[in-house]
Amino acid sequence: RFPPHHPRPARSRLLVLAGPTAVGKGTVAARIRETHPEIHLSVSATTRAPRPGEVDGVHYYFVDDAEFDRLIADEQLLEYAVVHNKHRYGTPRGPVDAALAEGRTVLLEIDLQGARQVRAAEPSASLVFLLPPSWDELVQRLVGRGTEDAEERTRRLRTARVELAAQNEFDYLVVNADVATAAEEVVELATDSARRSAP
Ligand code: 5GP
Repeated sequence: RFPPHHPRPARSRLLVLAGPTAVGKGTVAARIRETHPEIHLSVSATTRAPRPGEVDGVHYYFVDDAEFDRLIADEQLLEYAVVHNKHRYGTPRGPVDAALAEGRTVLLEIDLQGARQVRAAEPSASLVFLLPPSWDELVQRLVGRGTEDAEERTRRLRTARVELAAQNEFDYLVVNADVATAAEEVVELATDSARRSAP
């Protein structure tokens, strides 16, 4: 299902985009996918069901629990985590290695637990933390998108408080006040870190 492993270049151009719930990581990543096709946006495997409009292999690889177990057992995941106490999400290693071997920049849009695992596995990776312009704005965005009920929102906001405290672990902070601007800032960081790690 995924391409075979490739040898990894000595210095990788691996960029991780993380941040609290509802900060707009997905929107920023989607924007980068549209405007910068040269950047390889990793497609995660997940056990959650597709939402309307989501395409298998484009937005996620939708897998069942047994297949996710198999991906873990076969060491095909660079990192994986249970997100929001519910479903499992993980980054397939093969496509990431293949893109890095081609010299492409690779962007992972993953949660905080995943970002920490990538840091441990790939110390040269650059970690970007996406921040909301303010706490109130974060609350507004979560309410505004209307995809969670009140109880779930409360739970996610509690998690967001904890996650915001983790920003010190990151290499770069980007404020997501405007999606296009934030996306360009992330791309610039990717380009800069690639340049710095060039032999
Ligand atoms: P959603 O279900 O809304 O698409 O994503 C929920 C959360 O899962 C987001 O915070 C997203 O960053 C995170 N996520 C998506 N893919 C991965 C992955 O491969 N690994 C990890 N650790 N988190 C992921």
